[in-house]
Amino acid sequence: MSERMDGKALAAKIKKEIALCAEKRAAEGKARPCLAVILVGEDPASAVYVRNKEKDCVECGIESRPYKLPADYGEEALLSLIDRLNDDPAVHGILVQLPLPKRYDQRRVIERISPDKDVDAFHPVNVGRMTIGEKGFLPCTPAGILELLDEYGIDPAGKNCVVVGRSNIVGKPMALLLLRRNGTVTVAHSKTRDLADITRRADILVSAVGKAGFIRADMVKPGAVIVDVGMNRNEEGKLCGDVDFAACEPLASYITPVPGGVGPMTRAILMKNTLYAAELKENIG
Ligand code: NAP
Repeated sequence: MSERMDGKALAAKIKKEIALCAEKRAAEGKARPCLAVILVGEDPASAVYVRNKEKDCVECGIESRPYKLPADYGEEALLSLIDRLNDDPAVHGILVQLPLPKRYDQRRVIERISPDKDVDAFHPVNVGRMTIGEKGFLPCTPAGILELLDEYGIDPAGKNCVVVGRSNIVGKPMALLLLRRNGTVTVAHSKTRDLADITRRADILVSAVGKAGFIRADMVKPGAVIVDVGMNRNEEGKLCGDVDFAACEPLASYITPVPGGVGPMTRAILMKNTLYAAELKENIG
């Protein structure tokens, strides 16, 4: 019998804890954590993500500063805005909603954010810190997945962990974090041969591919923990993950639903990172 990992409930618990910390800070006369969120252009999915982040900030007692900029705002102007936010002591976290419109050099923009305000943890300095196991911001989705595994008492140590997908924001950092927790990690991608043979060896299977119905029952080892990162639309336009949930759920020991699994955890960790950024500021001045 499998158990569903309830990311929505855990995220709500984490957000409550953050709100309490924010209140405590306010009572001690410390600044409210403040997150600057920059949205360039009119991408409707990005606009929804930004609105959700604003809602999360309200719930967590975090001040949000939205910057909704036209697509033709320009790269140099965007870099100057980031410089100003980097220098503003009242701003603790800076997030640029990705993807940026095509003509922007995304890497250049991300690298302009001060690593100490980089709450998405996409800056190479934070990627490096994570890689060598130094303290720093952790990317929201993989860090949220680890918290979810912890909540359900699932320890990756010594387990075969298979991550399908190798993007910089999910697959690669997920693999590194599982390795940090002593998992034996395999990363699969579109050039991987005999994928089902590999996924069938997974005690913990993380799918971050972006294709509905991609993980079938014959790719899953009975008793495996399945973490579904995918956010796709099925033929009826309904939100679904990468995993054929109905077929795989009976096989799994634990499984994340979509929606209500990884997504809410990603959002909660962003709030946690913003609180951490405010505390970091007090520690480093
Ligand atoms: P991405 O950058 O498109 O990466 C997809 C990965 O899947 C790539 O590494 C690709 O391999 C691999 N892949 C594609 N086809 C494959 C195949 N046939 N066999 C094996 N591997 C294959 O996507 P992403 O940004 O990591 O996101 C993945 C999914 O997670 C999307 O649905 C996205 O919406 C979702 N997501 C959810 C959250 C959340 O909070 N729930 C957060 C972020 C992303 P190659 O590298 O070889 O091309």
